[in-house]
Amino acid sequence: MKVVVFVGGVGGARFLLGLKAALGLSPVGVADGESPHEVVAVVNTGDDVWMHGLRITPDLDTCMYTLGGGIDSERGWGRAGESWTVKEELAKYGADPTWFGLGDRDIATHLVRSRMLRAGYPLSAVVEALCDRWRPGVALLPMTDDRVETHVVIDEPESGERKAVHFQEWWVRHRAELPAHAIVPVGAEEAKPGPGVLEAIASADAVLLAPSNPVVSVGTILSVPGVRAALRETAAGVVGLSPIVGGKPVRGFADACLTAIGVDSTAEAVGRHYGARKSSQDGILDGWLVHEGDAADVPGVTVRSVPLLMSDVDATAAMARAALELAGVTVG
Ligand code: GDP
Ligand code: CA
Repeated sequence: MKVVVFVGGVGGARFLLGLKAALGLSPVGVADGESPHEVVAVVNTGDDVWMHGLRITPDLDTCMYTLGGGIDSERGWGRAGESWTVKEELAKYGADPTWFGLGDRDIATHLVRSRMLRAGYPLSAVVEALCDRWRPGVALLPMTDDRVETHVVIDEPESGERKAVHFQEWWVRHRAELPAHAIVPVGAEEAKPGPGVLEAIASADAVLLAPSNPVVSVGTILSVPGVRAALRETAAGVVGLSPIVGGKPVRGFADACLTAIGVDSTAEAVGRHYGARKSSQDGILDGWLVHEGDAADVPGVTVRSVPLLMSDVDATAAMARAALELAGVTVG
């Protein structure tokens, strides 16, 4: 069975751990022996950014480190056992930006990536090379090899001037506290889906939308031309899991992103925002999973409520099984 999953960073990576377990794969790394199941993750690259001459790909790295056993699991991002000497030294030079978490171990990954990109390799080839070390046990496909960077339109706090800043500046530096007037995936219109992305969707047995940020993770992947159409055309069932539980994101500031696009922070509103494949013009869902106790009426979509808290791998595996079942496949 082939399962394709749309993912961002922390929410996506944790979901992939549970999905692997649900399919009988070892959650971290690659187990011995053959498995009849294949997981393909289509990963958001709209958070990617150049800093200090390094190309940083936060969501790809979070997935790679989480599934490869290198993540700092408490923080949810970056390397376990990290130190911050380079960041401190950069700050002493006053080298901007000083607000971005750049760990020493992590920098080695960024150095390898940046060097390969400068040598002309596409991002997808770089990810493959990095995964030779981390062996995540799933295919991590960048949504595109082209440069797409999410920008957020804000009013500058001091001057009041309206301007667009990189998503990372809004999210990390300002902790999404400045109201966003618009969120724009710059470059998406001209981008092509990454190698294998459309083929994976077309040949999938099930397509799942992880409980990732609906705007700046899943939404950004959907902004790449051709991806939404592929979802609407695949013979596989398409099922999403709500990142909004009890009217709030479980973690992070997805509510601020939803406000910016005029969507309420409820499981129902996010389900309606994704929309039904069969009855709406550009909808993508057949099924929508919401947390137990949450209700959602999404016309044309089968809604089920099950526990949706990824407190450990077992709980997450149960979520993945419920999603696969709703997508119409059974795990043997
Ligand atoms: P990011 O790129 O690191 O921000 O991660 P994602 O976009 O993949 O996921 C972020 C989303 O995951 C947030 O909107 C959270 O609400 C959601 N999330 C995190 N933990 C959980 C959980 O245990 N259950 C559910 N349903 N959603 C979660
Ligand atoms: Ca992200």
